[in-house]
This record gives sequence, C-alpha cells and structure tokens, in this order.
Amino acid sequence: MQRTSSNKSLILIVEDEPSQMELLSFNLNAEGYDVLKAEDGEEGLLLFKEHDIDLVLLDWMLPNISGLEVCRQMKRSKNSKDCHLIMLTARGEEEDKVRGLDMGADDYIVKPYSVKELLARVRSGIRIRSAAKGADTLNYGKIKMEINRRSVKVDNKAISIGPLEFKLLQVLLESPKRVFSRSQLLEKIWTENLEVETRTVDVHIGRLRKAIKSVSDDNLVKTVRGFGYSLDDST
Ligand code: CA
Repeated sequence: MQRTSSNKSLILIVEDEPSQMELLSFNLNAEGYDVLKAEDGEEGLLLFKEHDIDLVLLDWMLPNISGLEVCRQMKRSKNSKDCHLIMLTARGEEEDKVRGLDMGADDYIVKPYSVKELLARVRSGIRIRSAAKGADTLNYGKIKMEINRRSVKVDNKAISIGPLEFKLLQVLLESPKRVFSRSQLLEKIWTENLEVETRTVDVHIGRLRKAIKSVSDDNLVKTVRGFGYSLDDST
C-alpha cells in the first residue's frame, strides 16, 4: 500500500479515450489532486490494488473488461472501503444508472459532462471519503475513542462515561490542545438547550476527569484559568 508522500488526495482515472483522459487529468491536476491513469480495466484494477486510492473515475465502455465489471471487482476488494467510485458513461438510461449503482458505484456522471460539474462531484466524493475515514476513531495520547461503538479507552482500559461526557470528550479530541471556553463547549454540546448554565460544563468536565482518573493518573483535561478547558497530555 504505497502512497505518494504528499497529503493530496489520490484519484485513479480509468478511461480508454486519450482525449478524455487528457481533459480529466489536466483539470484534476490543476485542482491540486494527484492522478493515476489507466487505459483499461486490467491496469485500473492493478493500480487500485497497489495504491491507497481516494476516488476512482471509471469509464463504463472499456475494452476487454467492462467498466461495470471493474466497478464490481473494486468494490469487492478490501481496500475499497473508503474509496469513492464515480462511473462515467455515455449511456443516460435509467436502467444503466441503476445497474451501476447496484454494482457499488457511489455516483454516476453522464457524458458529455461539464468539467465544472465533474469537479464539484469529485470534491463532494473526496469530502464523503475523508468523513468516512476520519469519523470513526479519534486518538490523542493515551485516549482512544471509537465513535460508532461508543467506546472510550484510556491506556487501553475501557472507561464508562455518559452521553454528555462522551460528546464533550469527542469535541476535545477533535482539537487536542485547543483551549475551549465554557460557552464554546456549551454551544457545541448543548445545542438544543440554550438555558443550560456555563457551570454545567464544569460538572461534566468533573465527571469526565473522574472516569479518566479511574484508569490513569495523568491529568489529561486541563483547566486553563480564566478561560476554559483543553485536552493536553503535556505536564
Ligand atoms: Ca470508453
């Protein structure tokens, strides 16, 4: 699983028409993406296996293996979990669209497309991809949170916290070392109930600290006097 050293998103284009390939790669490069090119499905599948691809633009009409079959194989493979796949096709028929989406395509663009629209769909696909990739686990120092499983571990030991403490910790984990004022935390966590007082935050911070303390001696949730709180593992 190699990947380029930059943090740019990596897009794989599978397209057999040179002029289309040129148009796509030129515009995607200009937008700041890294691009890999494949002229047919076989090459596309190979590159897909070798690299950590963020998004695939896949032509439907390809020589040898069809785009639909390539789509099926990519979506079946292990490293496709967070990859966004957009099918490009000259066919505009509803039935084809359904077949493409049935095979696991995430999106579908009919040729001839406007480059502007295509780039917008790519941006949106990349956003969805990074959300899926980053949303489930948050780590900082000894703390590990798995959001979907509602699990928090400190020093590899599970701690039990209430839903508000969970949300509070999630906000802190999303921006370690950032200092949040009480009202900033209130706004992020108690969005529906604006009548909550700022000292409520102190109560829940207290519960969170107690839960962390049950497994670790480190003071991870720091008080920043006169301002608020910050998740910081430095001493
Ligand atoms: Ca084609």
